[in-house]
Amino acid sequence: TGIEELLLSRIRDVADYPEPGVMFKDITPLLADPAAFTALTDALAAIAASTGATKVVGLEARGFILGAPVAVRAGLGFIPVRKAGKLPGATLSQAYDLEYGSAEIEVHAEDLSADDRILIVDDVLATGGTAEASIELIRRAGAEVAGLAVLMELGFLSGRARLEPALQGAPLEAL
Ligand code: IMP
Repeated sequence: TGIEELLLSRIRDVADYPEPGVMFKDITPLLADPAAFTALTDALAAIAASTGATKVVGLEARGFILGAPVAVRAGLGFIPVRKAGKLPGATLSQAYDLEYGSAEIEVHAEDLSADDRILIVDDVLATGGTAEASIELIRRAGAEVAGLAVLMELGFLSGRARLEPALQGAPLEAL
């Protein structure tokens, strides 16, 4: 479709970043193009509406850049899921494994309630580890996961298959 071509044309492949052998998908050209950034925001906001989301969760850091305008466009609140140690209030934390070592993400517990249906937004779905941890975090905070929406899915890493049990039927949309 037109939007897929537009978005793909604004994503830059950077070889050997952040380490040798990795082809990094850089979205900064897309962000710098108002037509592409607007088309992306509108498409993600339509997903937010179709899932019946009440709030948008953005995953640090590029999920903030994409998720905040989506929340505004869809008329929803925005909640940041941050790397550990960045949020000042009472948090819930979720640890998860990386290829080497582990990481931890946090959310302000009071931002989520049992009435909330959350659309999670991020730029790239790779192995699915980050998204899986965020789903767990949102559920532990008592809210429902309405879906996960990303700009791009790296299919060869099979994140979609990994996330299937965690999503419990909620949609995973990759533009
Ligand atoms: P995962 O946990 O392996 O799915 O990795 C996803 C997280 O890493 C997301 O928060 C992405 O922003 C980031 N990420 C992984 N690969 C890329 C990439 O090629 N470009 C931009 N971000 C990436």
